[in-house]
Amino acid sequence: MVMSESEVVIGFGSNLGDRAGLVNQALQALSELPRTTLTKLSSLYETVPVGYLEQGAFLNGVACVKTALPAAALLKSLLEIEKSLGRERIARWGPRTVDLDIIFFADRIINEVDLVVPHPELTRRLFVLEPLCEIAPVWRHPELDETVSVLLNKFQQSHPEAEPCRRLCAPVDGVLVKEKVNDGIFYRYSESCGY
Ligand code: ATP
Ligand code: CA
Ligand code: CA
Repeated sequence: MVMSESEVVIGFGSNLGDRAGLVNQALQALSELPRTTLTKLSSLYETVPVGYLEQGAFLNGVACVKTALPAAALLKSLLEIEKSLGRERIARWGPRTVDLDIIFFADRIINEVDLVVPHPELTRRLFVLEPLCEIAPVWRHPELDETVSVLLNKFQQSHPEAEPCRRLCAPVDGVLVKEKVNDGIFYRYSESCGY
């Protein structure tokens, strides 16, 4: 059976080491996954950590991909990319080289032990909502039946004190020399955008 393609939103973050370099490597690995194409990338945002406060600032963003991988296989691939980029799980919400989360998987609602989609925290995280609104403002949350831009608005109204994310730079299209990926183009962040 041919698995049809699904549109998926992946959130990423890094607050350890060469954060932007690690994010670019993660995006490249994402674009090289089998049966997967990176279709859109948000700007890069800088955010203060939530939860576990004694750690450095995060670079965050979200990417849209089209994939024929099933959700469980995609999650496994994301965890492998994290591991290949040096992620060690020491403390939950602690510092990490790269974190890759599935935010939306088409309009699917998944409640498995190791995979919950839509990501349960997305409505409470500006570092997800802001980049999401930039590239997919009319994406509907399948459980809440609201668009992402409405969800961002609601969060901002109910949390006027919440620190907005700082938008650092827009992505650029790069030509990937090593291998021809997505017809030779993949998205990345410029090294000169001031992070
Ligand atoms: P949070 O989920 O609050 O963002 P985190 O990203 O720091 O926390 P991790 O330590 O990266 O959490 O992941 C722990 C586990 O979460 C993963 O091994 C994975 O099985 C599970 N998980 C559940 N739902 C998702 C999802 N939507 N995307 C990625 N991982 C998920
Ligand atoms: Ca996360
Ligand atoms: Ca994660």
